[in-house]
Amino acid sequence: MSQVEHTAAGVPNDLEPYWMPFTANRAFKAAPRLIVSAKGMRLGTADGRSVIDAIAGMWCCNAGHNRDPIVAAIQRQAAELDYVTAFQFGHPGAFELAARIAALAPGDLDHVFFCNSGSEAVDTALKIALAFHAIRGEGSRTRLIGRERGYHGVGFGGISVGGIVANRKLFGTLLAGVDHLPTTYSRDHQAFTKGEPEWGAHLADELERIVALHDASTIAAVIVEPMAGSTGVLPAPKGYLQRLREICDRHRLLLIFDEVITGFGRLGPCFAAERYGVQPDMITFAKGVTSGTVPMGGVLVRKGLYDTFMRGPEHLVELFHGYTYSAHPLACAAGLATLDVYRDEDLFARAAALEPVFADAVMSLKGLPGVLDIRTVGLAAGIDLAPHPDGPGKRGFAAMNEAFHRQDAVIRLAGDTIALSPSLIVTADEIGEIVDKVARTIRAVG
Ligand code: PMP
Repeated sequence: MSQVEHTAAGVPNDLEPYWMPFTANRAFKAAPRLIVSAKGMRLGTADGRSVIDAIAGMWCCNAGHNRDPIVAAIQRQAAELDYVTAFQFGHPGAFELAARIAALAPGDLDHVFFCNSGSEAVDTALKIALAFHAIRGEGSRTRLIGRERGYHGVGFGGISVGGIVANRKLFGTLLAGVDHLPTTYSRDHQAFTKGEPEWGAHLADELERIVALHDASTIAAVIVEPMAGSTGVLPAPKGYLQRLREICDRHRLLLIFDEVITGFGRLGPCFAAERYGVQPDMITFAKGVTSGTVPMGGVLVRKGLYDTFMRGPEHLVELFHGYTYSAHPLACAAGLATLDVYRDEDLFARAAALEPVFADAVMSLKGLPGVLDIRTVGLAAGIDLAPHPDGPGKRGFAAMNEAFHRQDAVIRLAGDTIALSPSLIVTADEIGEIVDKVARTIRAVG
């Protein structure tokens, strides 16, 4: 048996075998950022430092790290029922969690299909949309519509409807029959905007153009993030989602909100659909449902959709889709305990109350060298840095290293954009600490 050797700081000597996801492997392994513990707003590093987590893990640990009730629930569940297949079997936690999530969702989004990640949630929602039209006798509705600068995970469905060029271009022909709406972001119209921009609702009308081009009878669904997080925190302009909804209604297209980031309080209400006052036909979620503790994702589905599937012959499986780990008992236990924490600590209301404090603090970075734009919404912010003369992303990468190694902060990057998304337990003082560290970081890499 091979023995892995460690340095004095507890870092394995050989970092090579692990091929890290979405990571510049060579650069990382030259100056590794290793985390060994976490509590609340802080992470512990392998070399014994305590760093502030400005991004809630990765938009997911909304209740903070290693919360006692969530840890205890996972431990209890692991000791009692580690696993049971979700195919033709069930366990109480799955039904309880679905009911709790449905109760938090707006309108008649009252059924939940479970999976294990945001990517799986997106692919599941797209498949439900196609199957829904097919079983109603409208099998010609196969086209899917996403958006430029959209991120919908890394499954083939998700990268097809997604609009991040680097995530698409080496992976063949992707799904056939996908169109993209334009991004709603324009620095000319929206620089340094808090909350939803005034400009841009008219861009929803592009959907009419796509419908005219292909005919509504060929289109199944439209998928958008109410706030595009991974491409730099781009909230939908005022009125934009309403207009998408109207056009979808006119042509009987399903509207899917990808709330993998916005779900569970990031923008204040549990789901962003509520903030925007728009009812989608499906909501994809993941991340915050378990506060990042155990992988889980899912799709909230409107009653009418679910009922359509239930009208088929009774002995038949209604949807030929699912995962070995759908509704995994540990994820369900984590989810139930997480929802308890959100409720008991009123964390969604707390996020809403902190939004102006957070927005003012982050906007104070305006004027620092190289800061081109800042956007804030809920407890999320995007700070665009001028690209480095050596190439796109270089300044951002330097900022991440500076923040981690010298300022004791974990930040996230999308190209040259710094993203901030603290846990909903963040205090006003901690917001100040984060912004201070980001300011020092920007000065250092400016
Ligand atoms: N959709 C959105 C909107 C996301 O932000 C993400 C992840 N950041 C995903 C889907 C994919 O989630 P996962 O990484 O869990 O597959």
